[in-house]
Amino acid sequence: MREKCAVLGIRSTQNVFDSIYYGLYSLQHRGQESAGLAVYNNNEIDVHKDMGLVSSVFENVFLEGKVGIGHVRYSTQGDTRIENSQPITIGYGGGSLAIAHNGHLVNGVELKEKLKKKGAVFTTDTDTEVIAHLIAQEHMKTGDFVNGVGKAMKKMRGSYSLTLLKDDRIIAVRDPNGFRPLVYGRNGNQEVVASESCALDSLGVPFVRDVKAGEILVLGDKIESIRKTRDKASVCMFEYVYFARADSVIDGISVYKVRKNLGENLYRAAPVKADLVTAVPDSGITAAIGYARASGIPYGESLIKNRYLGRTFIMPRQEERERGVRIKLNPIKSEIEGKRIILIDDSIVRGTTIKKLIDQLRNAGALEVHVRISCPPILNPCFYGIDMQTSDEFIARKFRVDEIRKEIGADSLVYNNIEDLVDAIGLPRERMCMACLNGEYPLEEEQKKLVS
Ligand code: SF4
Repeated sequence: MREKCAVLGIRSTQNVFDSIYYGLYSLQHRGQESAGLAVYNNNEIDVHKDMGLVSSVFENVFLEGKVGIGHVRYSTQGDTRIENSQPITIGYGGGSLAIAHNGHLVNGVELKEKLKKKGAVFTTDTDTEVIAHLIAQEHMKTGDFVNGVGKAMKKMRGSYSLTLLKDDRIIAVRDPNGFRPLVYGRNGNQEVVASESCALDSLGVPFVRDVKAGEILVLGDKIESIRKTRDKASVCMFEYVYFARADSVIDGISVYKVRKNLGENLYRAAPVKADLVTAVPDSGITAAIGYARASGIPYGESLIKNRYLGRTFIMPRQEERERGVRIKLNPIKSEIEGKRIILIDDSIVRGTTIKKLIDQLRNAGALEVHVRISCPPILNPCFYGIDMQTSDEFIARKFRVDEIRKEIGADSLVYNNIEDLVDAIGLPRERMCMACLNGEYPLEEEQKKLVS
């Protein structure tokens, strides 16, 4: 399961290249396959993008401009190739625009076919380019770019947090369900929109507010907010559980606090006698701290992560997968030997990694391994921008909890239930997407019918 992407947009009285570079650095956890930025300068849009991490993509590069957008990508739709990296630019009768997108359109294929019939030519296989052409067409129809964005939103179904660069303005857009986060911040000389508040912190730009679900926020000579669609907010619960950085705040709620609450709830649901609370790094650490504080059992490290592999590390041969877990995570025998261990992680998808980690802990001398999982069992695919569109491999679809426990070799296994998850996040249940857990898809009706 991988993150999606991150978007950024900055309008300043000075060159924005450095700010976009550092802002993207702080959003790198959301995508490591490619990075890019686009700036507006001398009535033109200049773009630089490439495959790789932010640090390598922008080495020895500088683009001039006081308005720009940026993107880091992990592909959820479209192949891993340079053409699909973002920002994407298109030229049309209304000039040119650049777009950066986090999310996934459930009706992207249908929209693309309709746009092709109207003459749009596509150079990528992303739904981001579909959005760009749709906005361009609506702009041409209405004669006003922002109106065109609003009209396009009425036809788009799915998840999208966007930053658009049009002339010297940035237009930030969050879909009516607010699946993916988007925040706005401002200081004396720059205005910033970003996928997560940690980017504002890294730039020293005070957070002002979240971009609301269904809102178009225009950063120009003056700031303009337009609500084009009714707010049916259903923010992705996984942003809190796993995807977002722990120091980010989404829709007014601290991600760190949610993860700590999840750990505390796990303790209350299933206390067990043990000597050490430990985590699968890094995803389980905050919940493990919460569990340890609630239980009084000391927290400590038991597995050391190799931080230089990158999230896209893939073993070259199937038979080397076993070794792969050892290369990524190695147990600390002196901390484990002779102890009863509580091992915390954020979620279980296929169960293969946690099974190998439990083996490693036992081989290092653990007397007992009790597994606690922040997220309730994942049962259904995601159509809103997370890389799990097929449920075939979900272990929770094949086995009941006790069978999973046996399968992974744990002494006990407890997941948070949905009520405890809702309690930990603190948002009203109806304002969250939890479709991968409960099958209640916020866009179920829209997924069935195509846009007219
Ligand atoms: S289905 Fe799951 S992963 Fe996808 S948006 Fe909803 S909560 Fe998030």
